[in-house]
Amino acid sequence: MGDFMTTRPSRRRARADQLSLDLLRRIAGTGSVETILQRVADAAREVCGSELSAIALREPETDEMVFRYRSGKRRFRSVRMAVVPGRGAGGRVLATGRPFRSADLPRDRRVNRDEHYMAAVRAERIVSVLCVPITAGAHIIGLLWVDNRSRRPFTDADEARLRHLAAHAAVAIRGAQVRETPACNVCGRLIETEVLVVYRHGELIHERCLPRPALARAPSGTPPAPRA
Ligand SMILES: [Zn+2]
Repeated sequence: MGDFMTTRPSRRRARADQLSLDLLRRIAGTGSVETILQRVADAAREVCGSELSAIALREPETDEMVFRYRSGKRRFRSVRMAVVPGRGAGGRVLATGRPFRSADLPRDRRVNRDEHYMAAVRAERIVSVLCVPITAGAHIIGLLWVDNRSRRPFTDADEARLRHLAAHAAVAIRGAQVRETPACNVCGRLIETEVLVVYRHGELIHERCLPRPALARAPSGTPPAPRA
């Protein structure tokens, strides 16, 4: 407690260099998956020092990735916003499975010719962005963003921290799904703590129960036939 004077100038850096045990305890804590995911969104903003953050999750009914949790003061709140694969930062992550980072969205030729996406970016006045996937096995089950309204680019270290938080979000989501639907959709045996994947309409399947070709084609394809 006595060393606050030395840690103060680089408080954010010191706090952000690793996700502290305290932060991870706070996130996991007790509570519903909704509470945990809101804590993840708040923690993302904290560890990356960003103005905004958001989490989108795949809707089982429509298979669409929809914004569900937000942190920071937003100017624009749409009732329902879905991410379109290939469009914008989140859409690029969905299409590639890789994190997407831009220092200056309005000048970024990878995304700035998409008028629909840029209208949303302008409405929220977002300039710098970083988005990482929330994954279960080979599947993207959600997206986690941090955004800044000025040109304050995110770093490799921010990306590492955000991926770490995304892993915690994935554990919370999977835990909640196992509680709700404890049986594997293919073999019918309990999921328990085995490695599992979430298939395209949200069904839970043991990783070993998923056919190889389906694994290679990540989120698309037809559900595997039940085993006799
Ligand atoms: Zn199974």
